[in-house]
Amino acid sequence: MEELHDINTASSYDVIVVGAGAAGLMAAGTAAKNGSRVLLLEKMEKPARKVRISGKGRCNLTNAKPAEEFASNIRVNADFIQPAFAEFNNRSTMRFFERMGVKLVTERGERVFPESGKAADIANALEYYCRDYGVEIQCNCRVSEIMTVCDKVLGVRYYNKRGFERKAEAPNVIIATGGVSYPRTGSTGDGYAFAHALGHSIVDIRPSLTPLVTSHPQYAYIDKVLLRNVNVTLCIDNEKVREEFGEIAFSERGIEGATALRLSRDAVDALLEEHKVKLIIDLKPALTEQMLHDRIHREVAEMQPEDFFAELLRRLVPKPLIVPICKELDIHSKIYISKVSDKEFERLIKVLKGWVFPISDYAPFDYAVVTAGGVACDEVNEFTMESRKIKGLYFAGEVLDLDANTGGYNLQTAFSTGHLAGLLKK
Ligand SMILES: Cc1cc2nc3c(=O)[nH]c(=O)nc-3n(C[C@H](O)[C@H](O)[C@H](O)COP(=O)(O)OP(=O)(O)OC[C@H]3O[C@@H](n4cnc5c(N)ncnc54)[C@H](O)[C@@H]3O)c2cc1C
Repeated sequence: MEELHDINTASSYDVIVVGAGAAGLMAAGTAAKNGSRVLLLEKMEKPARKVRISGKGRCNLTNAKPAEEFASNIRVNADFIQPAFAEFNNRSTMRFFERMGVKLVTERGERVFPESGKAADIANALEYYCRDYGVEIQCNCRVSEIMTVCDKVLGVRYYNKRGFERKAEAPNVIIATGGVSYPRTGSTGDGYAFAHALGHSIVDIRPSLTPLVTSHPQYAYIDKVLLRNVNVTLCIDNEKVREEFGEIAFSERGIEGATALRLSRDAVDALLEEHKVKLIIDLKPALTEQMLHDRIHREVAEMQPEDFFAELLRRLVPKPLIVPICKELDIHSKIYISKVSDKEFERLIKVLKGWVFPISDYAPFDYAVVTAGGVACDEVNEFTMESRKIKGLYFAGEVLDLDANTGGYNLQTAFSTGHLAGLLKK
């Protein structure tokens, strides 16, 4: 243990970047490209672990939507991020990776992926960008403190890969340590502690883009299933507050998929404030109640009187929903279709057009795609990403109080803020 306190001063740098995620790699490479001597410290065994698992291993690196639509997907502090976008926007990101030799494709919803379908290509390109411009990348190095004197950055203390404490000096430090979601990728909230210790306010952190847990009694009967083209409405205290169209997934973690994840930010906040939260799922958004009524009666007319009710449901919904819907309606799946009453058909229509799932909880940070909250943006200069409190201290990426919808917006936020922080003057 003696060794842990063996503090040596390493060589000096112009910039030390803490965290080799999307934001840190972009910041480090950009600073080095502009002539700075850069040390990039990463506590995991290799850089960009989160990028490597992003987009289900395919990495939805940005979104090609026009600027205004893009901004509407940033859930908080959208104005703060504008100068960073002006400097390095979604087009810049696409150009950047294409210049790095990564071919890109744009898919439904203007989501941009590497053509190879491999998130590792994005992570490797970022690492190559850094190494090419001479960034010294040291992995397995956990920063433990940002050193300052008279409100000016002096450098960092860190534990090197052998567990020895070291100091590295630089007049500029960029904190790019991410949030606390998926902590196994290395983001464990260290940046909040550094910022707080240096006098920064931290906006309450909570999981965002996270599965929602329902107390619905039939949920236990729903097998894992992904539903496409559904409409999901978030109600808070019985008031409809937001609607999303697209995919929803039922899993052991809760209700997820793009629609539910996008609604989760408001749902989590409402739950924290002890409001009543529910999701209403319209499984047949393309049909009005009358159209659905007609469709059901057409299907029934084609069936034999001794066919089971489950057969009708099989024609209307995916298999994993048949048993739960029967339970919801309290109708036996093997009742003859000829025995189902008009009232029961009407109840079926109500469920298909608006199945109500009370939300009692949300999945923890371990399953949240991003962390909402973080370093308060009003204490950071939006034109430079420099702290308004400590000279030479910069922030980039998810450590800031920034979070966005699914669709490539979060990585773009990390790239834009990382790039801007990396433009610092030596
Ligand atoms: C499963 C999953 C899928 C996602 N998919 C997408 C997607 O497809 N598109 C999208 O836009 N967004 C996606 N996101 C969100 C996106 O990946 C993040 O918002 C983004 O990676 C944040 O980048 P960052 O650099 O700020 O933080 P991170 O990527 O979390 O990087 C922070 C780095 O800092 C290091 N670090 C932390 N503390 C220390 C310390 N004390 N010393 C040294 N190093 C430290 C960590 O090890 C880590 O490498 C996804 C997130 C998850 C969890």
